[in-house]
Formats: sequence, structure tokens, C-alpha cells
Amino acid sequence: MNNNYFKEIHIKNTKLILKKGDITKEKVDVIVNAANTGLRGGGGVDGAIHRAGGPKIMEECRRIITKIGHLPTGKVVATTAGNLYAKWVFHTPGPIYKDGNSGEEKLLESCYLESLKLALEKGAKTIAFPSISTGVYGYPVKDASKIALKSVINFIKTNHGIKEVRFILFDEYTFNTYLKTLTDFLKDQT
Ligand code: ADP
Repeated sequence: MNNNYFKEIHIKNTKLILKKGDITKEKVDVIVNAANTGLRGGGGVDGAIHRAGGPKIMEECRRIITKIGHLPTGKVVATTAGNLYAKWVFHTPGPIYKDGNSGEEKLLESCYLESLKLALEKGAKTIAFPSISTGVYGYPVKDASKIALKSVINFIKTNHGIKEVRFILFDEYTFNTYLKTLTDFLKDQT
């Protein structure tokens, strides 16, 4: 296994990076938050983003929820990134994993695709994702890594404008699982 906890590949003009770390430290245009449908904040990466970014992010989340009621799973909204380096935080609620046959795959794919589409609309060049749904929401990391990487790779093969997509994976197991999935995908292509 790779013990540098870093892997970079190029797909067309886009860099795809896997890195172990804390997403709040990333210097990117967009930090994606694995949110909940009420944009209420919480534990995990959501809590870390609000803590590091400060109260401006939550103020904007509240304004959005007052307008729209709730944000459906798989959709995305942008807010300020507050004190974070990024220009925006994108909030996307991932699916809560039940049995794998309850539409989870499409919804998880949608989190990644909707985020990438919004990034293009905003003119963002760099975006960082956490491993959506694989914490409290219980999605098995191996299955989630296949959906995450497949969605992102297909998107960057057919859309231009995003220079860098990073997956920031918080723990060794998650990093190693994503790395294995990516390595298997690359093998299949040769
Ligand atoms: P979900 O509710 O979508 O499952 P969680 O935040 O519980 O979201 O977990 C999603 C992933 O984010 C997990 O792999 C968790 O370890 C990871 N995570 C937690 N804190 C951070 C952080 N600061 N940076 C990047 N990933 C994080």
C-alpha cells in the first residue's frame, strides 16, 4: 500500500488527487460538505467545516433553509466559505445507507455530479470532496469509493474547465480503500 497517503493522476487536463487529511485545510476554490437535508451542521466533516469556517456559513445555511424548507438528498447549494481559504462551501446531503437497494447509489452519484456542475457554473477551478456518506450515514467505503471515483472520472472526461479534483480522506482505511479502487479502475483501462 501507498504510505505517502497521496496519489495524483491526470485525466485529460484535470488532475485527480487522493490525499489523506483534513478538508478544512485545503487551498481550493470549493470545499464540499457532506451536509444533512436541514443544513443544520452536525458532527464529522460538517462540524469540522463549520468550526473552522466560522458562523457566517451557518447564517447563510439558515437563510437558504428558510427559503427552500430542506435540501433534498443528492442536491447541492453554495454558501460563503467564511474563514476558510476556499471561495465557497458546497453543501450536499448524501444518502443514509440502508441496504444498497434503496436508490443510494444514484443519490450518492448525484452529490458528486451536482457539485461538479455547480463548480463549472461558478467558474471554480479546484474542488475538494470528502468521502460523502461513509461516516455517520453508514455507506460502505468500498462501494462508496467506486461510485465517487466513477462519477468524478466520467465527469472530467467529458467536461472541461475544472483543473483539479481532490478527495480528502480523513483516515488511513478510507484513503487506502479509495486508492485501491482507483488503482483497479486504471488497471481495467489498460
Ligand atoms: P456522512 O454523514 O455523510 O456519513 P461524516 O462527516 O459522518 O458524513 O463522514 C464522511 C467522511 O468524512 C468520513 O470518512 C469521515 O471520517 C470524514 N471526515 C470527518 N472529518 C473530516 C475532515 N475534517 N476532513 C475530511 N474528512 C472528514
